Amino acid sequence: TAVTRFAPSPTGALHLGGLRTALFNYLLAHKTGGKFHLRIEDTDATRTVPGSKEQIKELLEWCMLNYEPTVLIQSERKEIYQKYANILIDKGAAYKCYCTPERLEHVRAIQKKAKGSGYDRRCLNLTEEEKLNMERQPFTVRFKVPLERKFTIVDDLVHGKVQVATKTLDDMILLKSDGLPTYHLANVVDDHLMGITHVLRGDEWIPSTPKHICLYEAFGWTPPKFAHLPLLMRKDGSKLSKRQNDVHVSYFRENGYLPEALLNFVALLGWSPGTTKEFFSLPELVENFDISNVNKANCIVSYDKLDYLNKLHIGNKIDHNVDFVESIRKEFMLQHNTKIYDQDKLEIDTFKDILKAIKNRANNVQQIHSLIYPLLCSPDYSTNHAKKAIEKLDGQKLTDLAKALSSELDIEWSKENIQAALNSYAANHSLTFMELMKYTRYLICGTSVGIDLITALLIIGKRQTRLRLLNYNK
Ligand code: GLU
Repeated sequence: TAVTRFAPSPTGALHLGGLRTALFNYLLAHKTGGKFHLRIEDTDATRTVPGSKEQIKELLEWCMLNYEPTVLIQSERKEIYQKYANILIDKGAAYKCYCTPERLEHVRAIQKKAKGSGYDRRCLNLTEEEKLNMERQPFTVRFKVPLERKFTIVDDLVHGKVQVATKTLDDMILLKSDGLPTYHLANVVDDHLMGITHVLRGDEWIPSTPKHICLYEAFGWTPPKFAHLPLLMRKDGSKLSKRQNDVHVSYFRENGYLPEALLNFVALLGWSPGTTKEFFSLPELVENFDISNVNKANCIVSYDKLDYLNKLHIGNKIDHNVDFVESIRKEFMLQHNTKIYDQDKLEIDTFKDILKAIKNRANNVQQIHSLIYPLLCSPDYSTNHAKKAIEKLDGQKLTDLAKALSSELDIEWSKENIQAALNSYAANHSLTFMELMKYTRYLICGTSVGIDLITALLIIGKRQTRLRLLNYNK
């Protein structure tokens, strides 16, 4: 069984990459009957954004990625990290460093010239007397990288063995002069104390991992298994940046994407089921997930794919989720109640049938509303959309057509009869069927797009259809 965690720093909005990391950790835990934890890595107070922690939690909940009830907050655990830093000092695996920022700046400049890097270990070699003199000075605690071992190896579940020369690792700071830990110390201590068995995180953390391996070793702890997830790229090859709006999970929520679709979408960023199946519910993802099917190549984020998956999940929810149908109904009534021409259409089963008629057309929740609008409410010819449509058509022609069709459609209401009536009208008035459909759609629905017109007319009904035609331009 795997114990995993999602360990975001609350430095801004939750983005797609973060959601994918959370999901993969969730999947691995659930696949193996283990546990999935949330840990907030907020030890860098200067980068913490107020409200970000709450937003991360809320969005994970919206996505149904339930985590263990106890959430670890690193800023509340200062003493623990200090204790572990001291353990390393006592073991001779870490040391206090009294160098001032000015001196460190100086060291950096010298190193740069010599094409070297890292701290020069001056404070590692202080005499007892020097140490005594420094005692009241502010200090950081540095890790003493085990230079005696030439290479440090990370055996990554996705990337395989990655080897780095230990001397390139630098004596990193573990505790800052304010007594707060750096990411490296807090991350390793907590992963150990929480019993984390697998660390799944973004590729950008690969350079940190050898440092973490050294830390585990210094403590005498067994490191967890690591898996670094491939970088997300835009189609044009640029990196998906957290600063761009369209990567924020909240952006997708506001724009009518379902959490089910978002999860399905991010699951396929770097993971593939090994089959052509693309539609996955969360339980199906759990069932199919396998870390060995995560690939290491950068992956391209295609929002067309997201739209496609969202459409599939919308359709699935319309068919199987009464609460979803009910929520759409409530929202629609809230917005348009006074304009609904027939309250019977709001009866839940009837309403569900109407949703079924549009389900293959809606890319997002907003589109559901605009697609059902003409089916439930009289057209609004004054919208910009409608005005654009009329500009393309001929005003007089429309008025004449409305009048003619109102009697033409005085027929028994069936798919075949409507089809036949429109066909013969088109033939008798030297119109193509397509043209006639375009005008008719505009007259009945007030739009130029929508579901199949005959289906729409069947839902709207004969009485209402004729009423709309007779009232046109009155
Ligand atoms: N706090 C780090 C982040 O924001 C966590 C990295 C890790 O999972 O170790 O991504």
